[in-house]
Amino acid sequence: MTDPAETSPSRAQVRGAILRIIERKTMTPLVDIQRRLAVTEDGKWGPQTARAVAKALLIPSERAIVLDVALSPNFVLREFTTSATAKARGLSNMPNAAQLLALVAWCENIGEPVRAQFGPVRVTSGYRCFTPDSQHGAGEAADFEVPGVANITVARWIRDNLTFDQLILEAWKANDPNAGWVHCSYRRDRARKSVLRTPTGGAPYYAGLPS
Ligand SMILES: [Zn+2]
Repeated sequence: MTDPAETSPSRAQVRGAILRIIERKTMTPLVDIQRRLAVTEDGKWGPQTARAVAKALLIPSERAIVLDVALSPNFVLREFTTSATAKARGLSNMPNAAQLLALVAWCENIGEPVRAQFGPVRVTSGYRCFTPDSQHGAGEAADFEVPGVANITVARWIRDNLTFDQLILEAWKANDPNAGWVHCSYRRDRARKSVLRTPTGGAPYYAGLPS
């Protein structure tokens, strides 16, 4: 007879495995990509660099290295373009220059502060070329979790500490702190600070976070 304790990993083991996956991501400094693409090597994201990266993303032989470019100190582009839905539909899911700059703004204003507060962030869905009407389609929103931290804890902290456009606690369940995920959007020119929750991953939405 098999002892279940021997075959099922503990929660700590699962968390450790997830963290190792997150931390193993490769990261190419922006200045290296700029050198490769022959644009000004200033290590900053601007329209010229974003245009060059977006163009390189359309070339399969260039794509692999460009996907490893750092959007901010702890986030790489690949984390925001990987999409099972896009893959299943045969879409390359590559952002254009404006969407790239929106992703950079998200990393600087949402991703990095959340990481600094709680630890490594696992982005589950970032840019989505196939939902042009959602903020994901503009590069302004990402869905994510922090392994080992309840989603409601992360959502409350964002609500109380960050400037954002919209925050949604999705598929949250009162009896399961790991259920669901956090959706947050950021725009440089708009901060509605809209806060919603949904027991599913979609409508109906309710105002505010669970008390
Ligand atoms: Zn979302």
